[in-house]
Amino acid sequence: MAINEQAYKKLSEEFTQKNITLVAVSKTKPVEDILSLCHLGQRDFGENYVQELLEKQSLLPKDIRWHFIGHLQTNKVKYIAPFVYLIHGVDSQKILHEINKQGSKNNRIIDCLLQVHIAKEETKFGMNEEELDDTLREFENSNMTNVRIKGLMGMASFTGDMDKVRCEFKYLKNLFDKHRLFPAARHPLSVLSMGMSADYAIASEEGTTMVRIGSLLFGARE
Ligand SMILES: *Cc1c(COP(=O)(O)O)cnc(C)c1O
Repeated sequence: MAINEQAYKKLSEEFTQKNITLVAVSKTKPVEDILSLCHLGQRDFGENYVQELLEKQSLLPKDIRWHFIGHLQTNKVKYIAPFVYLIHGVDSQKILHEINKQGSKNNRIIDCLLQVHIAKEETKFGMNEEELDDTLREFENSNMTNVRIKGLMGMASFTGDMDKVRCEFKYLKNLFDKHRLFPAARHPLSVLSMGMSADYAIASEEGTTMVRIGSLLFGARE
């Protein structure tokens, strides 16, 4: 196993130019590969599974910014709360409350993104528009001071139909713009996490600020 150094250099240059944050998705990949990317200057890494993240975090450089991009269960928030940099997949009030609670216990403010369900055909996690509105409104009226809503995250349909993917990204970008200055977040939303290996180019055209790329950098997963 080896990382694709060429692809990394090309992508990181492109994203730096466009002011897009590249999160290298390292799930199922060995710590050696993560270290190789670290040595090329990469600092943001994304993981989907709590146990795997904990193991890797304990072994790897402490200045890595760990993004949790999987579906997070309420009872597991406490394990990643001490160090996680950004939680991408927040899709309920309940999980937001738990993140706030664990943030408080760890004496930190934990940044997160609300996940919006944008893939029309598939059942993927995420809120619909109404739930997003409700969540932001409830957040505004709460006193959750140890969690910060930084922006939105979404996953497009897994399809070769790029018009459909573009449509879904446009929809998410519109929601992002609509809520950008929403006072509920207590500060303007600044992060829009959309785009993966297969669709990052479209996401970039549609105004993403953060892409999550795995297989292009680390090779295909089993
Ligand atoms: C695995 C995963 C990615 C990366 O997917 P690639 O197609 O390998 O780039 C991005 N986002 C989420 C939420 C993932 O689970």
